[in-house]
Amino acid sequence: DQLTKYYRMSAGFLGSRDKVIRAVDGVSLEIYERETFALVGESGCGKTTLGRAMLRLVERTAGSVNYRGQDLHSLDEGSMRAMRKKLQIVFQDPFASLNPRMRVKDILAEPLRAHAYGSEARIEERCRELLEVVGLRPHLMRHYPHQFSGGQRQRIGVARALANNPEFVVCDEAVSALDVSIQAQVLNLLRDLQEQLKLTYLFITHDLSVVRQFADRIGVMFLGRLVEVGTTEEIFSNPRHPYTMFLISAVPRADPHQRNRERPVLVGDIPSPVNLPSGCRFHTRCPYAKDICRTEDPALATNDGRGVACHFPLGE
Ligand code: SF4
Repeated sequence: DQLTKYYRMSAGFLGSRDKVIRAVDGVSLEIYERETFALVGESGCGKTTLGRAMLRLVERTAGSVNYRGQDLHSLDEGSMRAMRKKLQIVFQDPFASLNPRMRVKDILAEPLRAHAYGSEARIEERCRELLEVVGLRPHLMRHYPHQFSGGQRQRIGVARALANNPEFVVCDEAVSALDVSIQAQVLNLLRDLQEQLKLTYLFITHDLSVVRQFADRIGVMFLGRLVEVGTTEEIFSNPRHPYTMFLISAVPRADPHQRNRERPVLVGDIPSPVNLPSGCRFHTRCPYAKDICRTEDPALATNDGRGVACHFPLGE
């Protein structure tokens, strides 16, 4: 079912009405086993909320999340706890997500203890193994997070996510805080781990250039909706939604023949998620908007995994 997550903002003492933020507003998407699906969009488009709702780290307002035939949001606490081993997340800021007062060993041991991994000796052995898997030397487990560089801390974040042998990992802006060269190293590591451990990734990012070499498929989000979905090749070579075209045109290109590609100039201001425009919610910014766009909300029509939510898709 289409997934929806609304947040209610309380108006407080001012007497005005509560406001509702439609962070995720009826999104339907399928992620295939062992692929990397990138969810892309500007900040505030709902991609992080969607990722968290998919792991049930936030409760949905409506809809379902089907994981291998089970609706995660209908599971009781015990079944969800067991399921959590398979579903993990790597956060953006490794420094903020690692407890500064804990040694690396305890950071890695925490999820293992939570799922009764075994004796302390087995846990220590597993921590050693996890550090090796992410390319860090095992003796570093005695150190604290501040003794590591940003890239190393993100490796520790990845190791922690892998502790209980997950199947599905959400990487939420996982390389966004890193320098470009370190980004490349962490992306290579993630790719190797995917191969070795047969992982499936949902890779959330505001930066399309990061996923060009990394993702198998891409979904573009705008104000709580998925507006385009396709393979990475399709999205980059034949973007069909004006918003996707706008995002892609901002990606630097090495190929000089591609440099002159038209860049749509967006009009107006970014609409508020509290007060969404009628019809296509991109119409106040879209240079191609026509009358119907102001009144009719285009559905995402998908065919073989390729889809676009626009009354006048580009390239037709
Ligand atoms: Fe632009 Fe209309 Fe397409 Fe919306 S439906 S993206 S306003 S052309």
